[in-house]
Amino acid sequence: MSQLSTYYSMMPTVGLPRRAYEKEGTAIHTGLLPQAERAAGEGAVGRSRASASIAKRPPAEVPGDIDEGRGPARPVTRFRAIMKISGLRAYRIELPLHEGSYKWSGGNAVTVFDSTVVAVDTDAGITGWGEVCPLGPAYLPAYAAGARTGIAELAPQLLGADPLALGSLNERMDAALRGHPYVKSAIDMACWDILGKASGLSVATLMGGHVGDDFALYRAISQESPEQMAGRIAAYRQEGYRKFQLKVGGDPDTDIDRIRATSAVLERGDVLIADANTGWTQHAAVRVADAVRDVDVYIEQPCPTYDQCLAVRRHTNRPFVLDEVIDGIDMVIRGVGDHAMDVINLKISKVGGLTKARQIRDLCVSLGIAMTIEDTWGGDITTAAIAHLAHSTPTRYLFSATDFNSYVTVSFADGAPRRAQGRLAASREPGLGVRPRLDHLGRPVFEIG
Ligand code: MG
Repeated sequence: MSQLSTYYSMMPTVGLPRRAYEKEGTAIHTGLLPQAERAAGEGAVGRSRASASIAKRPPAEVPGDIDEGRGPARPVTRFRAIMKISGLRAYRIELPLHEGSYKWSGGNAVTVFDSTVVAVDTDAGITGWGEVCPLGPAYLPAYAAGARTGIAELAPQLLGADPLALGSLNERMDAALRGHPYVKSAIDMACWDILGKASGLSVATLMGGHVGDDFALYRAISQESPEQMAGRIAAYRQEGYRKFQLKVGGDPDTDIDRIRATSAVLERGDVLIADANTGWTQHAAVRVADAVRDVDVYIEQPCPTYDQCLAVRRHTNRPFVLDEVIDGIDMVIRGVGDHAMDVINLKISKVGGLTKARQIRDLCVSLGIAMTIEDTWGGDITTAAIAHLAHSTPTRYLFSATDFNSYVTVSFADGAPRRAQGRLAASREPGLGVRPRLDHLGRPVFEIG
């Protein structure tokens, strides 16, 4: 049985009767976890005494489940009410950067991120929240207005779908809209939030459980002169970061200087990554990689195509990260077969949402490939989703993760994770644990249902 199937089968066992409710962005966790309920001798799950609207509807029986922890296993009757998506809303929110702008290869820069927040409403009164925020229109085949247009295209075909059946939901989205994974990401993320709220469990718990108290973050260093970039290291270390990702991918000689200048100010235990974001030609990348052979640095996504990156990989002795070309599980399998990378950068919206990111995460853990777990950008909800996926990943395979909400000046959700000493932790509240403030979101730019 796959892990995903395990989670589906777990749903009736966890029980729907006690759950979180949400009204206008205010979530209240009203119930105990099932273990606590059992300890209190309050009866079997399914003997509902909750007043939730979902419990008032005729339940569907799920026979043959096993009541663990009550002596010999025996079949019992479970109840699983059918939940349906009753509406979707999309909001547009601007996220200015604290540092003014973020620059990477090819002369690209962003000053204000254009993010899309999605609310998925259900007939059970539970609302799930998701977010997608492309890194401008020139980074991946994704752009902010495209996210909203795609969501409006998909939404009518999702009304009536069961948001808890995440596998079926993803199949439905893939059948209705070919490609465009970033469009589906926020919807999938919102449905994980619903699953968590319905079960009373955090998304991290549903994805395998919180590993340790928290996890380490990296800090992206916007492309500037070698001296300026080296100067940023000490300030970021003061904030607790120990992993530094340089934005290179420009003039190869200047990039060699950037890598050497920053490596010169590292302390023992620091990690340096030179991320070209596809910006080098193959011959330039080979030159840079050769020039920094004696530097303790990771090389990330030097060239635009997989084959070009593979050629560079075969010329360098530096540890190697693939990012932009890893856009699905098939590319992970191909890369592992070619020994093309040591680490991947797993961005949630790049692969189509948490469901597919979790599949890739689990495959990488099984194959021994470490991951930077993040997204293309975002605010409080994206950061929460990153936190749940990262926090449930075995530490040795979590290379790093990102706290996007601390890069931007706008916070629009209570309960979002906040960086502490260069580290982050996922909420233990049900779902993603975020409660968006509707006054910050304004009126929906799209609404159905
Ligand atoms: Mg990258």
